[in-house]
Amino acid sequence: MKIGIINIETIVSGDWRDPYVDGDAIVMTDGKFTTVGRVGKDEIEQCDVVVDANGTTACPGLIDSHVHNSFGDYTPKQQAVGFLQSYLHGGTTTCISASEIHVAGRPNDREGVKALAIAAYKCFENFRPGGMRVHGGSVILEPTLKPEDFTELRKEGLWLAKAGFGSVKTPFDYVPLVHAAREAGFVVNVHTGGASISLANSIIGEHLLAMRPNVSYHVNGGPIAMPDEDFERVIKESDIALQICQAGNIRTAVLCVNLAVANNAFDRLLIATDTPTGTGMMPLGMIKSITEMATLTDYPPEWMIAAATGNAARVYGLDTGFLRPGKIADLLLVDAPMGGTQKTCLKAIKHGDVWSLVASFTEGVPRFIGRSRNTPPPIRIPKVVKSKIVQDFGMAQQFN
Ligand SMILES: [Zn+2]
Repeated sequence: MKIGIINIETIVSGDWRDPYVDGDAIVMTDGKFTTVGRVGKDEIEQCDVVVDANGTTACPGLIDSHVHNSFGDYTPKQQAVGFLQSYLHGGTTTCISASEIHVAGRPNDREGVKALAIAAYKCFENFRPGGMRVHGGSVILEPTLKPEDFTELRKEGLWLAKAGFGSVKTPFDYVPLVHAAREAGFVVNVHTGGASISLANSIIGEHLLAMRPNVSYHVNGGPIAMPDEDFERVIKESDIALQICQAGNIRTAVLCVNLAVANNAFDRLLIATDTPTGTGMMPLGMIKSITEMATLTDYPPEWMIAAATGNAARVYGLDTGFLRPGKIADLLLVDAPMGGTQKTCLKAIKHGDVWSLVASFTEGVPRFIGRSRNTPPPIRIPKVVKSKIVQDFGMAQQFN
């Protein structure tokens, strides 16, 4: 299937160093971007579906690298069904599991830990809620695991590991487990800050520096933050990625953004939600953090969008997160909300208003075109101007 989008006002690339793409159109073919920016008339004519963006802004689909999924589209923590599809209506097109810790009766013996991770990984390989991609099956680092277990799990395809909820006596007990998982090729995420719901001890700068994971999960606290002075140490003395979360401490999130820029470490800054948790199920969690970090710092909104897209794709090795030919075609059309004082999406974000999401595409397929069920109404609404497919992508349902 070939899908074209025309009349885009601004194309935000997902790359904070080079945040815009010149042009006003995008073509996606069989799930990948084929042309981004300037598109010839012939190429648009060949499309099966053409969407008139009507002057809205295009950006990559958001990657939430901290989601507490369990099985299916259900969160045990908030007893809510359909939360992932709801997150899609906030702009999240990719979720990365923060490990399946909320599954009732979660085992911590060697075989049980592996079985839970394998089952979650394999289920989400077959399940795309609303078209979203969920990377499930993040193995929980427990002291019962042996180095050969990581090799075995990698053979099954698993690639995510999480430290912070294991039955350890001190956070330093995670050091050999993190090293063994990284050695086997896992991307290792480590809970940071005060203990949240588990019996795990607080994890602060000295622990992170001893463990050397790929990502400091909720570096701004989950929800309680580590000491302020540890942020600078982690940024200067390691290459650990810095994930700031909506569910964490907002003051230290701002501190972390400012320190990342000052120390030339913005490539390592990620925006995520850490939900559903006690903080709630938050479909607009990603865009709330993007907006808050753009409006409370001196840096532009397109950098914060990059922290939630291209930066996350690079840190996790995903083939999405950028509006670039060859990448998986996960794309959003967004606009300034109606009733606000700002006329474009980026200006609205800088002003502190959340965006209006008006279309979502995953793997090159329109998932909805019109108004998202979770965001405020937009100034402009895109339209399907040509379709050879018997589908209105939700337009009729939303505007009747
Ligand atoms: Zn979490």
